[in-house]
Amino acid sequence: MGKKCIIGTLLILLAGCKYQPNGKEILAKIKSHYDQKPTAGLHVSYQQVGFNPYQSYDYEHPDSLRSMHMVNLDGQRFFAERRAWFPGGFEFGLKEFQQDSVGYQYDLKGIVLGKRVIKQPKERIEEVREELTELVDFRFSQKFLSQEDRVSVDTLDFRKNLTTLIQITDEQDTLKVTYQIEPVALQSISFNGSEEEWLFNNINGGSYMDGIQHFKNGSLKGLYTLEQVKQINSIAQEHFYIPEEYSMYQPEKKQPSVEKIGPDLYLVKSLPADRNVLFTTDPNGITVFGAPISDRLSQLVIDLITTRFPEEQIHAVYVTHAHSDHIGGLPAYAKLGATILADAYSILAIKAYPKFGDTIDSFVFKEVVNESVIGDAQFFVVDNSHSKGQSFVYFRANEVMYQGDFFEIPADNTFPHYVPNATREFMEFIATRNLSVKRIVAHHRNDFITMDLLQMYYDSKK
Ligand SMILES: [Zn+2]
Repeated sequence: MGKKCIIGTLLILLAGCKYQPNGKEILAKIKSHYDQKPTAGLHVSYQQVGFNPYQSYDYEHPDSLRSMHMVNLDGQRFFAERRAWFPGGFEFGLKEFQQDSVGYQYDLKGIVLGKRVIKQPKERIEEVREELTELVDFRFSQKFLSQEDRVSVDTLDFRKNLTTLIQITDEQDTLKVTYQIEPVALQSISFNGSEEEWLFNNINGGSYMDGIQHFKNGSLKGLYTLEQVKQINSIAQEHFYIPEEYSMYQPEKKQPSVEKIGPDLYLVKSLPADRNVLFTTDPNGITVFGAPISDRLSQLVIDLITTRFPEEQIHAVYVTHAHSDHIGGLPAYAKLGATILADAYSILAIKAYPKFGDTIDSFVFKEVVNESVIGDAQFFVVDNSHSKGQSFVYFRANEVMYQGDFFEIPADNTFPHYVPNATREFMEFIATRNLSVKRIVAHHRNDFITMDLLQMYYDSKK
């Protein structure tokens, strides 16, 4: 009897040295373990903590970005409530549900959709199913092992009490799933092609795996804590309703376009992801305000500007702060040779943004300081809790303000249910500035907010 076998005997109580189960038997054992788990309706509540330096207050000290989810799924229906918190005291909340292939979503905090309800595509339920399959060990295992003919044993290590099963999903990707053999427990899922890995750390109440870590390209993207996983027979009908004060809203599919909103001031509207971008014309050419999401979106904006002003050069682009969704479209402008305008902190953050890689060497920056003026634009840098550096711009001749993430007023002009800290800080800041403002264009969604409306919202929540 070898040393290996003695340890193996200690670990695997069922397997004596004379007989060790083979791969096929181990696979059958794991399958039968998960066959005993619930397959019908599920209630799952979980907390997610994400780490994204470029949605944090300070990219050098990333925040723990928390969200909470409660999901109920039965047959062809689901409902979910979700909440997410971002720096500056922003709290987002939504409820979504679907039955008879019709889905709806509304805003529990009134900060994105206001009092409007939007319809969701009927495929949404598949995404929700997928979400639970990713997080609940037995749902994942049931699905994975149901494709038995495509699953094979890759490694079997009785000493470590582990087995790794493998499935070739396509040419690019291989799925490797590791289980503890005795007692059966899911340990990890890894996708070799896409460099993603999910680790399952402890058994919660003996019935499901918890303490889930999600890695991408070796770095920790999220931590999941499953607070409750419970079998349900069906979802109570009372969850499938829309509160009275909400009304249906059908977003119009409009093509992005340019609208002149003042002398030398233009709004690029109906952009994807509900973003608003402004630009001004001056003797040197064009300055763009806002570079959201991606180069693809920037290219859309650049094409619209070029069609309208074929002779003019875009010589500068301004961003309010260095969050990923606000700076993602900068490289397209850097390529044109445009100077990037931002506050000192945001410039440092942009320079360190990993996604810009080597292209960052071609970026030219000009720092905006509080109250500095370039052409008609005056910049104000506000000390606030959303982002360490964050500014807004005021077009003096036009009496137009452009801001992002200091406050939100949904496009139906109803008020969010609360005032975020960042909004208070912004309101205290502008109270001492006496700016005459006819129109505020928000980077997100609402492109026409009056100062009176903003003040009314702020006062109503004091
Ligand atoms: Zn932000």
